[in-house]
Formats: sequence, structure tokens, C-alpha cells
Amino acid sequence: SLTTPRPLIAGNWKMFGLEASLDEARAVAAAVSEAPPAARVAICPPATLLHRLAETLSGEPVLVGGQDCHPAAQGAYTGDISAAMLVDAGARLVILGHSERRGGYGESCELVASKVEAALAAGLEPIICCGESLAQREAGQAEAIVTGQIRNSLPASLAGQAFAVAYEPIWAIGTGLTPTTADIAAIHKAIRAILVERFGDHGASVPILYGGSVKPENAAEILATEDVGGALVGGASLKAKDFLAIINAA
Ligand code: PGA
Repeated sequence: SLTTPRPLIAGNWKMFGLEASLDEARAVAAAVSEAPPAARVAICPPATLLHRLAETLSGEPVLVGGQDCHPAAQGAYTGDISAAMLVDAGARLVILGHSERRGGYGESCELVASKVEAALAAGLEPIICCGESLAQREAGQAEAIVTGQIRNSLPASLAGQAFAVAYEPIWAIGTGLTPTTADIAAIHKAIRAILVERFGDHGASVPILYGGSVKPENAAEILATEDVGGALVGGASLKAKDFLAIINAA
């Protein structure tokens, strides 16, 4: 029988967090060390804090991740960061294809797939994001949009590698709105079908995270939903108290 991997609770700090935020991360690490949760825990800070956070959390059971990487190994790409640089700074994971990058920077699925290749080559565990807009959901296209993103953003080289998928409906991000658990389950089921079709038994065990307004108040219900293998948490990951409540709901 297949082993069910531990759920993954990943905090996405986005472009929030200065030096003082390291105290929140330290508080999370202290609590997680004291009472080990069922879930694996990761924090993805802005790039400026990556190395500091990794040093601060060294030896602690909290992983550090990046929020994006460039598809090339190195080169003349002003302002960009390679996957190897993330590893060098202490990252173990990287969020790729977040809607704020797909939308804000016009990142295509093909670009996201090439970033995934770069992340794998550097030894990072990618968290590959997908999700529909409100207009797409209202037009009844949510499943078609998400499955299209998954088909086109996941390179074949993911076979046998550690990775996660995150379903994040754009209209639920930072809004306080969430889909019903039935709607989350339906999308996760559709994603699972593609993962199994593409990667067989391995695809059956890849964690599919939900993201979008996950809070202490709704975390237990969302995390208990069929085929939800964790959460990608934005706003509520910035405060140790809230993030810990979500971690302990898993
Ligand atoms: P939110 O963001 O939890 O603040 O809605 C989630 C995300 O964008 O990853």
C-alpha cells in the first residue's frame, strides 16, 4: 500500500517581512521543536531574509524556501536569482508559478515548467501553484483552467522527484473568501487524476496544498478535506501565533 506523506504547511511571506520578522520565525521553530506537529513546516521569506532565516533556523525542524527562481543556472539577468543561489542561501524548497507572478509578470506555464526544471537540477523541492480567477470560476471554467495549468506547468522530469502542487484560487488570495470544501475537493480530485496519469503511484502521493485565505478559524476544516495534503499560507503565516494554529490543525 502507498504511504501517505506528511502534510506540508508552507508560509509565503511574499514582499512582507524585515529583520524583526525573524523573531516570528524563531517562535514558530521553538514551538514546533517543543511539540512536533504532524505536518512538515516551511517558511518562504523574501530573498533578502533567506540567508538570515536559514541561519536562524539551522538545526530546527522548519524548512526554508524561496518564492521564485530564474530558469537559467546563472547569467546576465539583473535582479534575478537562480535556484542554486536559493540553495546556497539555505533554501530547500521554492514556490513557482504563484498567481502573483503569473499575473504580475506574465509568466506562462511553459516558463513555470522551465523554472521547475531549474529547481530540480539544483536539488530544490518545487511547490507548483495553479488557480483560476473569479471570472473564470463564474464562467464555470475553474477545473478546465486549473487542469490546463497543471498539464503545462509540470515537466516530465518531476517523475520520482519530491514536489508539491498548490491550488490557490486567485479570488481567495488575501480576500478572506474561500471555496466550499466540496469545491476544493473537486479541484484537488481533478489535479490528482492528472498527477496519477502523468506519474503513476508517485503522482498518487504528491501533496496537493490548498492556498487562499487559510486562517486559524478555517484550517482544520480545509485540511480535513479529501485530497488536501497541506496549505500554502500567506497573510496568516506572518504571525507566529496564527501560523502555529494552522500548523497544529494539520
Ligand atoms: P493568503 O495568500 O493566505 O494571504 O490568502 C496565500 C498565497 O497567496 O499563497
